[in-house]
Amino acid sequence: MAETFDLVVVGGGPGGYVAAIRASQLKMKVALVERENLGGICLNWGCIPTKALLRASEINHLLHSLDAYGFAADNVRFDFAKVVKRSRGVAAQLSGGVKHLLRKNKVTVFDGHARLAGPGKLSVSKDGKPVAELASKHIILATGARARVLPGMEPDGKLIWSYREAMVAPALPKRLIVIGSGAIGSEFASFYLNMGSEVTLIEAMDRILPVEDAEVSAFVHKAFEKQKMKVIVGAKVQGVRKEGDGVAAIVEAGGKVTEIKADRLISAVGIVGNVEDLGLEGTKVQVDRTHVVTDAMGRTGEPGVYAIGDLTGPPWLAHKASHEGIITVEAIAGLHPHAMDVLNIPGCTYCRPQVASVGLTEAAAKSKGYDLKVGRFPFIGNGKAIAMGEPEGFVKTVFDAKTGALLGAHMVGPEVTEMIQGYGIARTLETTEAELMHTVFPHPTVSEAMHESVLDAYGRVIHI
Ligand SMILES: Cc1cc2nc3c(=O)[nH]c(=O)nc-3n(C[C@H](O)[C@H](O)[C@H](O)COP(=O)(O)OP(=O)(O)OC[C@H]3O[C@@H](n4cnc5c(N)ncnc54)[C@H](O)[C@@H]3O)c2cc1C
Repeated sequence: MAETFDLVVVGGGPGGYVAAIRASQLKMKVALVERENLGGICLNWGCIPTKALLRASEINHLLHSLDAYGFAADNVRFDFAKVVKRSRGVAAQLSGGVKHLLRKNKVTVFDGHARLAGPGKLSVSKDGKPVAELASKHIILATGARARVLPGMEPDGKLIWSYREAMVAPALPKRLIVIGSGAIGSEFASFYLNMGSEVTLIEAMDRILPVEDAEVSAFVHKAFEKQKMKVIVGAKVQGVRKEGDGVAAIVEAGGKVTEIKADRLISAVGIVGNVEDLGLEGTKVQVDRTHVVTDAMGRTGEPGVYAIGDLTGPPWLAHKASHEGIITVEAIAGLHPHAMDVLNIPGCTYCRPQVASVGLTEAAAKSKGYDLKVGRFPFIGNGKAIAMGEPEGFVKTVFDAKTGALLGAHMVGPEVTEMIQGYGIARTLETTEAELMHTVFPHPTVSEAMHESVLDAYGRVIHI
């Protein structure tokens, strides 16, 4: 006999577990099926463990910059295994936290792989053995995504790594190649560089962090090079050869073919949705390449089946997954939630220097036909950034000249990943330049640069 629920969520990542908790708050009887670890990629193999690693590399960088602050320390060294162990501990702690939250919210958790087994039905199995049959009027698929694998660059756990292997490396590679300069590639390149590896970052597009504003990409490119990273853009990797305990990448860029040798290689060339073995065949669920197609309320083509998070395509971000989870559950409960505006989803990259943005880039705003007012403020004009010893970077704001609407904000520099939410709120509230100028920013804070950038767009900047 199938166990019956009001809602079954497949996948316990930030999309799935948040959806399950919201449904429980709305008095639904909820089950969640997870085949690996609660918390999904984000808590176990993504957002959180990478930030724990990046914290270590920031500390290493700071320890090697002590002189600037009047300190001296001899014999500064680290134990790489301990750095990785701490990151795994942080991930485990948070995954345990999700287990507790689900229990507190009376969500029944099944440990296993779920697949659709007819209208309103799911079967759960573990290691090929049946675990449970579930019935539910509503089923949310939140099965996430995994690293895209290019032929010839298959992760082998030793020489070629995906993000998973890169997060649990047994030792610091002396020389590392990172292919792909999106957020994941740039974060790993920055981590390993700041821990002491010689890093070559290779990007196929004509600039790194290609989804960011072009000025931000250019700034980070220069900053990486200043930190002695080798950055190659407009590059085509023709092949990767394994040689003993190392790799060689054959790279074509600017009409020249070169061979780059390293000890290890990270492939960070994109994400594909986990659409396989979900029982989608024979349903009306539409799959576009590797992503499930939904409407703004998470509905797929199959009545009663919904999809959220990485499974539904870009932006592949945890907060997008969670927010979609909430919207979908509230729509199921008949609450008529607002659809999400994808331009109000901030994106952050935690490399050194940090990058954060929300809304349209200047180029995208121009191509949409807006007449623009653009403001810029460099952190070298900000007292707190100078006092912190981190005056590199800037804040750029893009406004619609006609209405004063904030179309986009782009930041690179200290703690910008914490600050971008200020502009996120501004966009959600449909704030114009006038309210942003009227907002009082505390002094001294790095956030004052956000105010100054707005002032600059209208010819009123004070500190530069
Ligand atoms: C290295 C790295 C760094 C990242 N850093 C950030 C960051 O800083 N900020 C950010 O916002 N995002 C970041 N991301 C992206 C973020 O991890 C994802 O956007 C987020 O995890 C998506 O959540 P989700 O719930 O859609 O899917 P996932 O987190 O992938 O969860 C899906 C879950 O479903 C389970 N599952 C799959 N199929 C089944 C099945 N049939 N039955 C049962 N269970 C199943 C999986 O085991 C998994 O636990 C990063 C990703 C990576 C790889």
